Amino acid sequence: MDKSFDVPERLAVKGVTRRDFMKFCGFMATVLGLPLSFAPRIAEAVAAKRPTVVWLQFAECTGCAESFIRTTYPWAADIVLDVLNVAYFETIMAAAGDQAEQVLDDVVNKEKGKYIAIMEGAIPTKDNGVYGQIHGKTFLEIAKKVGQNAAAVICVGNCACSGGVQAAAPNPTGAKSIAEATGLKTVNLNGCPPNADNMVATVVHFLLLGKLPALDDKGRPLFAYQYLIHDNCERRGHFENEEFVKEFGDEGAAKGWCLYKVGCKGPETHNNCPIIKWNQGTNWPIGAGHPCIGCSEPGFWDNMSPFYVQKS
Ligand code: SF4
Ligand code: SF4
Repeated sequence: MDKSFDVPERLAVKGVTRRDFMKFCGFMATVLGLPLSFAPRIAEAVAAKRPTVVWLQFAECTGCAESFIRTTYPWAADIVLDVLNVAYFETIMAAAGDQAEQVLDDVVNKEKGKYIAIMEGAIPTKDNGVYGQIHGKTFLEIAKKVGQNAAAVICVGNCACSGGVQAAAPNPTGAKSIAEATGLKTVNLNGCPPNADNMVATVVHFLLLGKLPALDDKGRPLFAYQYLIHDNCERRGHFENEEFVKEFGDEGAAKGWCLYKVGCKGPETHNNCPIIKWNQGTNWPIGAGHPCIGCSEPGFWDNMSPFYVQKS
């Protein structure tokens, strides 16, 4: 551990005050379902520990990495990236080619059982995985090697957690989730993309308690995925009163009625979008008049589409 590492001091350079930092820690406590009194302990944990992280990107669109980099608190990703000593992350690292791959090998060989592996994207498995390769190795080989030697594997996004659009029918590359392709036990931050605040909170939980959060039967952290969207939706009263939007732009839409009849999948989707919302808590899809498309459920491209049609 680097004793001289001082998060508030480093953030001050970016114009972020200690008060802002404590506000962030309080917000993290809220996301994790902990009392606000945990904020000082979160601040301590975040400032004290520097586990190494490798962020691997397989068959994906980089949307999850983008979501993470643009977390609610614009500098929160900096905290996590600084605090965590991110050794390998293709989207943001300066190294490339042999040099970058050497860094990854070094982490796997020298920090066995100590580093966190974050994985984004599905794994093509057809024809021995030839449809996804980096530096001459298949995604499958890389995921297995890096995952087997990690302290924890955190999957971000529907592609890594359940195959995503790559695994949608007819799935020409035989794409599978990380857990399915490798047999590894994974924490699944499902969503397309997952909310960055849930990603940061999962890492903060690990730093605070030295273990990963409790999971549901699909590997999703309960703090974020235990409730249905429908359970916490602000339009629920209209659902109960049978006040439905029949088509986009109609009178019901103007009045903020329930979106069930224009395809909302909130009644079968687990996520905390209505609670923590997006973009600094500004709003969320249903709040803005768009039905939930069920992006945090396995196989949502096949199971939840067509997106704008009521499920029978
Ligand atoms: S908009 Fe969707 S989630 Fe909200 S009450 Fe209607 S069906 Fe449920
Ligand atoms: S409202 Fe539904 S579709 Fe939208 S991000 Fe949340 S879980 Fe995904």
